[in-house]
Amino acid sequence: MQSKKAADANAVIAKLKQRYKKDMETWLDAKNSWELLVATMLSAQSQDVQVNKVTPSLFKKYPNADDYLNLKPTDLYPYVKTLGLYRNKSKNIIKAAKYLHEHFDDNIPETIDKLTELPGVGRKTANVVLANAFGVLEGIAIDTHCITTTDRIFLFHTKDAGKIEQKLMTMVPKKDWGNITHLLIALGRDVCTARAKYCEGCVLKDICPSSTVKK
Ligand code: SF4
Repeated sequence: MQSKKAADANAVIAKLKQRYKKDMETWLDAKNSWELLVATMLSAQSQDVQVNKVTPSLFKKYPNADDYLNLKPTDLYPYVKTLGLYRNKSKNIIKAAKYLHEHFDDNIPETIDKLTELPGVGRKTANVVLANAFGVLEGIAIDTHCITTTDRIFLFHTKDAGKIEQKLMTMVPKKDWGNITHLLIALGRDVCTARAKYCEGCVLKDICPSSTVKK
């Protein structure tokens, strides 16, 4: 029996760009790096569309990082309580604002090592902020859609986001490190969901080793 072969990353990117070009911008609404950091922290296990509903009033009331310095987490609850894990997220946002104030003069740092020093900020959040606020590409943000789709397209056979990020960084041209996250998320939302794959309608059906479409 012939073993399956992972799809070629460049061919995958080219086809995904054709289909999901409009999705290559981040879906989170933010006017500056602080807003993007907060929105990304709020988006953990929540849909971007839900986050975009709550952030306008939150940012209107508290526009800058130093507006959060003297807040209690309960001050943020009225704005974010429709989101999952909102208590924890509120606590971390305030802690992050304080850390920024104490260590970085209220400025968002532009390296992954420094950004991940902030409470509640992991590599995924840091990669999103660096790529979309500063155009800095140090790594690749990996979310649940990326885990599902890379397993099927590239046969990674791991759910470890760190390992997936490292593997993708060796395969994907650096200029596309920011784009690939958005493209895989768009694919995962559209036809390659965790629950089911709709290969008939997928742009990768001819090159994906997990495609159910007969060649
Ligand atoms: S061909 Fe099927 S398994 Fe492969 S990426 Fe598309 S939907 Fe997913």
